Amino acid sequence: MPAAFPSSPPDIPATPLTTEMRDALRAIVGQKGLIEDEHGKQPFVTDWRGLLVGGAGAIVRPGSTEEVSRVVRLCHEHGVAIVPQGGNTGLMGGATPWPAHTGIVLSLGRMNRILEVDPVGYSMTVEAGCVLQTLQETASAHDRFLPLSLGAQGSCMIGGNLSTNAGGVQVLRYGNARNLVLGLEVVLPNGEVWDGLRALKKDNTGYDLKHLFMGAEGTLGIITKAVLKLWPAPKDVCTAWLAVRDPRAALEILSEAHSASEDNVGSCELMSRSAIDMVLRHIPGTQDPLKADTSWYLLLEWSSARPRRDGTEGMSEKMEQFLADQLEAGRVRDAAIAHTVSQSRKMWRIREGVAEASRAEGPGLSYDVSVAISRIPEFIDLGLKAVLGILPTIRPYPLGHIGDGNLHFSFMGPLGMDQQTLTQYKGVITRAVNDLITSMGGSISAEHGIGIDKLDELSHYRSKTELDIMRTIKRALDPQNIMNPGKVLRL
Ligand SMILES: Cc1cc2nc3c(=O)[nH]c(=O)nc-3n(C[C@H](O)[C@H](O)[C@H](O)COP(=O)(O)OP(=O)(O)OC[C@H]3O[C@@H](n4cnc5c(N)ncnc54)[C@H](O)[C@@H]3O)c2cc1C
Repeated sequence: MPAAFPSSPPDIPATPLTTEMRDALRAIVGQKGLIEDEHGKQPFVTDWRGLLVGGAGAIVRPGSTEEVSRVVRLCHEHGVAIVPQGGNTGLMGGATPWPAHTGIVLSLGRMNRILEVDPVGYSMTVEAGCVLQTLQETASAHDRFLPLSLGAQGSCMIGGNLSTNAGGVQVLRYGNARNLVLGLEVVLPNGEVWDGLRALKKDNTGYDLKHLFMGAEGTLGIITKAVLKLWPAPKDVCTAWLAVRDPRAALEILSEAHSASEDNVGSCELMSRSAIDMVLRHIPGTQDPLKADTSWYLLLEWSSARPRRDGTEGMSEKMEQFLADQLEAGRVRDAAIAHTVSQSRKMWRIREGVAEASRAEGPGLSYDVSVAISRIPEFIDLGLKAVLGILPTIRPYPLGHIGDGNLHFSFMGPLGMDQQTLTQYKGVITRAVNDLITSMGGSISAEHGIGIDKLDELSHYRSKTELDIMRTIKRALDPQNIMNPGKVLRL
């Protein structure tokens, strides 16, 4: 298994688990909540991509907030480090312990109860270990909608989603994960429980503490519960697959789609032909919705909570008219509309299959960047020139949530090149991409976070003032640096 950790590891606490501590942990979580054998630990110390394999004294799986609090208090008393983990689908190594980690991985998977659904108040109170898809289905069973949606939704957990402030394919309309939260419960690095589990839309009582923990990637505390916002369930949905002239045309289409759909654009995903071909190669059962003479495609979805009534114009009719206009304007080369839920699912499977397909394809590089929406075409153009100038045989497959200005600027390694050789180019390519995005006023991490992978990049690109504020917050809440040490920030 290749190791892809940065060459200079940060200082992390190295207090090992003593027999006494193991016994104390077992007394809190029971035998079923403690994994100590090497084989059992493997899935928890290996990241989703299979690129990082860390170490851990034990995996601890508490079943309640009280157990989390007692475990953290114990670790705090002994200076033992903790790596919080949800579904372990993060793509930056945030949930993977460093190889030198001697403490615990604290997995939230057993805390998977839905505590309350309030359809009238449009909210839902849940434990951190609930799988995202289960929450979507529960909301739907109550005729409500939880908009957070991403390719890993069958296994990522809400605590992980909030800790990474996940994005996904509905941000355009509903915002990213932090926008979907009313309240949180968090276990702090000293074991104290902060009860901010309030279902209030308005609450201007000093600093809004919940936002500290969202996007903190488990470095400031452990999210144990959340109150999530819900929306009316979509009743009339139209999904379309468009072959578009180029990224500029894709942006113009999106810009016009807002009024044409009467403000009902839900998703707008740009995909390159090479990304689609990669999915078709590796994900069984996927079919190409459309082949046209272009390198760029758009997955466009409109949805309305208003049920479609006979004799009235619904989303499909509006979409048909819109696509005809866009064909005439030369922005769209060809298009297919999904007429059934199953056809729509098949289109979405292609978009959602990209991460899985890229893992199957072999070594690659991927940059999750954002820039002002109107500058996306310019970034793609300049970025491709820069990267191909360094390694002409690298194979780009850009795609992205273009309505959010978020591009996954991704590359498969040249055919036949192994991971180790590709890694030799990684530093220079990363610097070129990140310098470019920064010079254009963009961000080096749009939605995946920092974790281990971008630790050095964050300290390179963020100002001393910003880094100082972040370190001050970290030191105030976690003076011993036991909570997910060596992630996000070098102290
Ligand atoms: C196929 C695929 C598609 C994806 N698509 C997207 C996408 O469209 N948009 C997007 O933003 N991301 C995407 N991701 C990345 C990933 O799914 C998200 O980052 C997700 O939110 C992580 O959730 P998780 O439960 O797996 O968290 P983990 O990977 O377990 O953890 C992620 C981070 O959060 C911390 N953490 C986890 N749980 C807690 C908790 N309860 N309290 C405190 N800290 C915690 C961990 O320490 C770690 O730093 C994708 C990943 C895959 C594999």
